[in-house]
Amino acid sequence: MPTTVKCPTCQKEVIWQESAKFRPFCSKRCQLIDLGEWSEENHTISTPLTPEQAFTPESIEDIEAMLAANQEGFFKD
Ligand SMILES: [Zn+2]
Repeated sequence: MPTTVKCPTCQKEVIWQESAKFRPFCSKRCQLIDLGEWSEENHTISTPLTPEQAFTPESIEDIEAMLAANQEGFFKD
């Protein structure tokens, strides 16, 4: 009994096998439709930056430079 999944786009049964390139979708078309919907959703949902997301490698370097500068000032006194 092969494993089957339902195509998320059209609910058609897809056999989960190596040749089903677009699984869990039945076809490339269904995959693209789903991706399109996903990206549209993504555009409408505005996600404010959390402090964690704001930590880029650049900002970490800035913080480290600031800490180093503070330490120098500290040791001068
Ligand atoms: Zn489909």
